[in-house]
Formats: sequence, C-alpha cells, structure tokens
Amino acid sequence: MSAKIRLYVEHPLGAGQSVPLDRGQAHYLFGVMRMAVGGQISLFNGTDGEWLAEIAQAGKRAGLLTCVEQTKVLQMPPDLWLLFAPIKKARTDFIVEKAAEMGAARILPVQTEFTNSERIRRDRLQAHAVEAAEQCGGTYVPQVDDLQKLSRLLDHWPEDRQLMFCDEGEVGKALTLAATDRSSAPWAILIGPEGGFSEGERKRLHALPQSHVVSLGPRILRADTAAVAAMTLWQQALGDWG
Ligand code: SAM
Repeated sequence: MSAKIRLYVEHPLGAGQSVPLDRGQAHYLFGVMRMAVGGQISLFNGTDGEWLAEIAQAGKRAGLLTCVEQTKVLQMPPDLWLLFAPIKKARTDFIVEKAAEMGAARILPVQTEFTNSERIRRDRLQAHAVEAAEQCGGTYVPQVDDLQKLSRLLDHWPEDRQLMFCDEGEVGKALTLAATDRSSAPWAILIGPEGGFSEGERKRLHALPQSHVVSLGPRILRADTAAVAAMTLWQQALGDWG
C-alpha cells in the first residue's frame, strides 16, 4: 500500500535500493513532517513506478531511504502535449499544475504574436509539475520545455502528431473532436494567450493538415480555464479516462 507522503526523487528505485535525500527533501520530511528513522513514505522517479521506502537515516540536511516494495507500476499518460502561451505567473503555474494532474505527457510553453510574457522560469514550472505529480498519485512527471516560438514549432511540426487547435474565433460553433480522430495516437492541444491568436496564426493553424479546429462552447474562456476544459474534452474522447 502507498504511504501518505509521496516524494519524487531523481534516483533509481528497486528492491533494497538506497536512496539519498537532498537538503530540501530532508528538511521537509524530518523538519516539517517530523518523520523519523523507521517511518515509511512513497517514492517515485518517473520511470520505476512507485516504491514504499523506509527511512534509514534522518539528518537536518540529508537522509537515506531504503526501498521496500513496489506499490505501483509506472503508468504513462497518453502521448499528449499541451502547448500554451504563458500568461500571468499564478495562472501559468495553474496551467502547468493542472496539465500534470490531468495527464499531459509534455508541456510546451509557446510564444505567439500576442503572448503576454516573454520569459518563463522553466525550473520553477518543472517544480510545479513535480509537486502536482506528488500530490495526485501519479508515477510520471511531464517535462516542461523552455519557451519557444509557436511559428518555429509549427515549421517542424511532426507529421504524425494531431493538433487540437482551440480557436476562440470559432466560439459558439459546434466544433468538437470526432470519434474518428481516435485512430491517430500522438496529439497536442494548443491554447492561445489572453489576446488570442493573430489572423496570420489562425490562417496558418487552419491550413495545417494535422489541425483539428475545436470550439470550447459559446463563451470565451480565460486561457487557464480553456486549458483545463480542452484537456478534459480530449481525455474523455481520446485519452485514458474512458
Ligand atoms: N482575447 C481573445 C478574444 O476575446 O477573442 C480570447 C482569448 S482566450 C482568453 C485564450 C485562449 O483560450 C484562446 O486563444 C483559445 O485558445 C482558448 N479559448 C477560450 N475560449 C474559447 C472558445 N470558446 N473556443 C475555443 N477556444 C477558446
């Protein structure tokens, strides 16, 4: 059975494997959560599933755990990328957290013509994805990419990856994912910035052969709401929720 506390570690996991803790993890476990030698927590590393581990050494700045038994096998999410244009800090954090919880395999912040923010803290966003996986029971952590230009990404768009293009220009139309879309495995969802897409971007995205233009209902949603709504629709229609 999984323990209440779950930690992501960048270390191999396996029967009898010793796993060192970094300073932050030791502080959290022994300082904040008051765990002691003999206590049990769950560990995952994104590749070896989840392991029950026992605390072998507990210090202020370091610690050592020993893996006892595997409690979950690795559960990979569907091959779904979430592309979104970064917005305000707290709302961008929210998008990354929700994408990790809802089962995105990779998170790609993209700079569009009307993107509000030209910089992101990739490491901070990656830490949010880790935290989300720790709290939701996931065994996989999606990679968060550096900010890149949408136009450049589209220049080399993979031939086999379908794109759910959430286009506010189609608001109110009955455009949803079709059951026939299920046949193609790799997918991506694209959500625009507060200012929406430029006419040039919309034209290019409509012309992309892999593009599936989707409306998210009769109202214009904020980008963070749109990301959650789009992932819900996709997971329900084509993902691992069914
Ligand atoms: N400022 C834009 C406007 O008023 O037309 C709205 C942009 S919206 C806040 C941010 C993003 O969420 C859009 O670029 C789109 O990807 C998505 N979005 C929001 N509402 C949508 C809808 N009803 N249908 C499709 N996409 C939507």
